[in-house]
Amino acid sequence: MSKFHKTLLVSVSLIFLTLYLGSKVHVLFFFLSFLILITALFVIVMGVIKIENNFFLKSWIKKEGVQKVALTFDDGPNKETTEKILEILGQYNVKATFFCIGHKIEEDFETIEKIVAQGHEIGNHTWSHSYFFDLYSTSKVKEELQKTNALIEGMTKQENKLFRPPYGVTNPHIAKAVKALGLHSVGWSIRSLDTIAKTKKELISKVEKVSGGDVILLHDTMQITVDHLEEIIKIIQRKNLQAVTVSELFN
Ligand SMILES: [Zn+2]
Repeated sequence: MSKFHKTLLVSVSLIFLTLYLGSKVHVLFFFLSFLILITALFVIVMGVIKIENNFFLKSWIKKEGVQKVALTFDDGPNKETTEKILEILGQYNVKATFFCIGHKIEEDFETIEKIVAQGHEIGNHTWSHSYFFDLYSTSKVKEELQKTNALIEGMTKQENKLFRPPYGVTNPHIAKAVKALGLHSVGWSIRSLDTIAKTKKELISKVEKVSGGDVILLHDTMQITVDHLEEIIKIIQRKNLQAVTVSELFN
């Protein structure tokens, strides 16, 4: 039973119990059942928006007891910025994982070929990365993931099991689709917030906390990430950590 189902079961049972007590014992129990309902809703919302809570499905967040970390880049490929990131990773001989969007892969096979040729890993980040992805039915989510996986596997000639949910949002439909397709959800333990960071300091302050086993979320579509990737790699190296792919970190 997932955390989601346990929360539902306990909350519904408690609400019925307090409603019963409210009618039989004291009217204050009605207030208590309202509080239980609000708390349950809050827990479910946090489960939806925070992937690290493993609420609907278990995601890889952080590996304990290792001197390795995973650099992950979402939302590409992007001809200009992804190529610059590949150059920097190559200079430092660092391997990373790119969670690519299906329709962007279709438009830019060349960049994907370069990612693969340099020995990096590619994971599934849905076909559309739609703002409404979280409202999709299980079958629509499955369709998005299958279509993207077919492209990735066609290019890498390897089976892909890695999936990163857009915005780190999960729900029962996404959980069902991921399980049905035998994929593994990949979250993060360090969110760089590079999509909103305005300065080097803002970006670096998040990454400076890195320790063994962390998964760092970055975006290969952001110029600020290109500008400060060298510094991020140097921080990792100063801490005697080795940057590897997600598969290498967790397997
Ligand atoms: Zn994304």
